[in-house]
Amino acid sequence: MGRQVLVTGGTGYIGSHTVVELQAVGFDVVIIDDLSNSSAEVVDQIEKISGIRPAFEEFNLLDSEKLEAFFKKYTGIEAIIHFAAFKAVGESVEKPLLYYRNNLVSLMNILDCMSEYKVANLVFSSSCTVYGQPDQLPVTENTPKKDAESPYGNTKAISEEVLRDVVKVTPDLKVIALRYFNPIGAHPSALIGELPRGVPNNLVPFITQTAAGIRQQLSIFGDDYDTVDGSCVRDYINVVDLAKAHVIAINRLINNTNSDRFEFFNIGTGTGASVIEVVQTFEESTGVKLNYKIVARRPGDVEKIYADTTIANSVLGWKAETSLYDTLLSAWNWEKRIRGIN
Ligand code: UDP
Repeated sequence: MGRQVLVTGGTGYIGSHTVVELQAVGFDVVIIDDLSNSSAEVVDQIEKISGIRPAFEEFNLLDSEKLEAFFKKYTGIEAIIHFAAFKAVGESVEKPLLYYRNNLVSLMNILDCMSEYKVANLVFSSSCTVYGQPDQLPVTENTPKKDAESPYGNTKAISEEVLRDVVKVTPDLKVIALRYFNPIGAHPSALIGELPRGVPNNLVPFITQTAAGIRQQLSIFGDDYDTVDGSCVRDYINVVDLAKAHVIAINRLINNTNSDRFEFFNIGTGTGASVIEVVQTFEESTGVKLNYKIVARRPGDVEKIYADTTIANSVLGWKAETSLYDTLLSAWNWEKRIRGIN
């Protein structure tokens, strides 16, 4: 048996890819997920890829009694990767309390248990949303944080502050926050990927669903921004590359190679792509023509953001490897598999 890692939200999009990468290097993975935005079949798919079935416990992390019982049952956990959270920006504007309660209380429940059950190592899912629209590009880890654009974004900013303050007074606790840019794509096996419920808010699922004929037309939100072609610029990071950053972070914590007990890293490619460039690259890599139109700006969108990955490259020793071309193809292969398209 390898060293045991708890992955909360392990049947979700990034969580499931991370479970596979952890298993690939010998970790023994236990998942907690309430299946509020994923399905139990993901556990089967993970097993198909890795040949190993991860332990799976279904409950919501707000239930502190169940979480206590969990830590009494699994006594060998050495590290936790905490993905479980609500992530729909628009919904968070409509239901701020739901987001604050779910995302913040679950983190605090985990921190309570880490202290009580002597688990020292935590990797936290953060986001480039903590930077808002930065004054300078690319953003480094030390670029000043701006007020969050949404309650969702604010839960990530507040969570980082909670972690910083708790680390200060908890001598054994070590935390790495990974600030993801825009995760896209799917596992090369096409057995796991992103499965948004309802109409996708994010660009790439909307593109693949349009290509699959589920959506009639992609709307590109704005072509009058101050960017290469007027559409917004983001740093799209391959989900498997992103998953690997978590494995490196876990090893860094377990092997005690972190210099600071609270560290945070930008996890992106370092290169920005515009919405129109993403659409063109999708068409090139898949050979599928997309039906799209330019519409008005989407409120709350930042104009452009991409990562300075110098610190992640040098300190963490992690680098994005997969091209946008290959990543968009992986997203399409996943969409085709789940829709039964040849
Ligand atoms: N976008 C778009 N059409 C869509 C969805 C997204 O033009 O149907 C644009 C959006 O305006 C943004 C980029 O794609 O510039 C990435 O949006 P997404 O929601 O995927 O990520 P985020 O806004 O969190 O960066």
